[in-house]
Order: sequence, then structure tokens, then C-alpha cells
Amino acid sequence: MKIIFFGPPGSGKGTQAKLLAEQFSILHLSTGDILRNKLKDKDNLSFKLKEIMSSGNLVSDEILNEIIKEKLTGKDCENGFILDGYPRTLPQADFLLGFLSENNIKINYIFDFIIEFKVVEARIIQRSKEENRSDDNLEVIQTRLKKYMEETSPVSVLFNQKFKENYFNISASKEISEIQKDLLKILKNGQK
Ligand code: AMP
Repeated sequence: MKIIFFGPPGSGKGTQAKLLAEQFSILHLSTGDILRNKLKDKDNLSFKLKEIMSSGNLVSDEILNEIIKEKLTGKDCENGFILDGYPRTLPQADFLLGFLSENNIKINYIFDFIIEFKVVEARIIQRSKEENRSDDNLEVIQTRLKKYMEETSPVSVLFNQKFKENYFNISASKEISEIQKDLLKILKNGQK
């Protein structure tokens, strides 16, 4: 099963992606997690990445497209995947659509996590206390949300137009367990 998640930072995509990935034995492909892992290398690239990520800006499309290409062609993805945090810009969307069609890969479900930005801000501030993430203070959150509006919303609009029958809005201000139920209901009904 192949799934894409859209939704602003703090909308709970990561939590839901982990739960679904476990349940369906598919890969949770979080570009944020992959990049945070790269920060541990302490080389030139990781210093540049840290600067971009901790300011709430987006890492270059070239780097992200390369990461995704490598992952999607890897063995881990054979069973399926959940893309969490990618594509985030129109050039990334173009790259992904090209890659999917070249490799004859069909996306089964796209879930768009809908939530008010006010709720997200409160959630992220709480998460920053729990996880000590350097990209989780109010100023950075506002940059991240602005980037989402400017760069990623047009991508979700494009995917909604292109994959209308597979595209589902998820009300993401509910409790974790409620959101999971909503996702499972759509998956079990096999609506596509
Ligand atoms: P996330 O955990 O998905 O919110 O990602 C954390 C940070 O990693 C983002 O604020 C960006 O700086 C960077 N990042 C993750 N995914 C992407 C992407 N697809 N394109 C550009 N930057 C990304």
C-alpha cells in the first residue's frame, strides 16, 4: 500500500504515519526524520542542514529528491510506504510524479491533515518541551507554517486535482485515537 500524507507541521502526521506503518508493515518515510539523522554526521553538509532546519526554512529540492529516489528504489519500500513530509514544493511534486510514472508506481491513498494554525502552534510549543527540537519555538513555527502555506499548499491542491478519487481530508484537531479510527475506516472500506 502506498500513501502520501499532507498537512502542516504539528498536524500529527508523523504520529499517525508511525501507527499505520506498523499496522500494515510498510515503510514510514519521513524526510524530516531522515534529515535529522543526517545532522548527527557533523560534516559540512550537516552544518548547512542544521542552519536551514532550525530556522524553519526548507532544504533544497535537489537534496530531497535524491533522498527520495534512493529510498523509493530500495528494498524497504517493496511492501509499500507512507510519504510523510514530501513532496513539499512544486519542483518536488514534479520530480515525484515523474518518478512514479517512470516506475509504474500507483499511489493508493492521499490523506490531507486539516487543522487550524492556532491549534498547531499550541501543539508544537508543547512538543518542543518534550522533544527538545531546535525547530520548535514560536518564531520558527510561524516560519514553518508560512512555508507550508506558500510552498506546500499548492502541492496539495495539485494532488487533489490529479488524484481526486484517492484524496481524503482528515480532521486533525481530534484525539490521536480518533484520527487513527478515521484513517482505518477509509482504508478498510477500500475507498479509492
Ligand atoms: P518535518 O519533521 O517534516 O517537519 O521536517 C523538519 C524540517 O526538515 C523542515 O522544517 C525542513 O527544514 C526539512 N524538510 C523535511 N522535509 C522536507 C522537504 N520535503 N523539503 C524541504 N525541506 C524538508
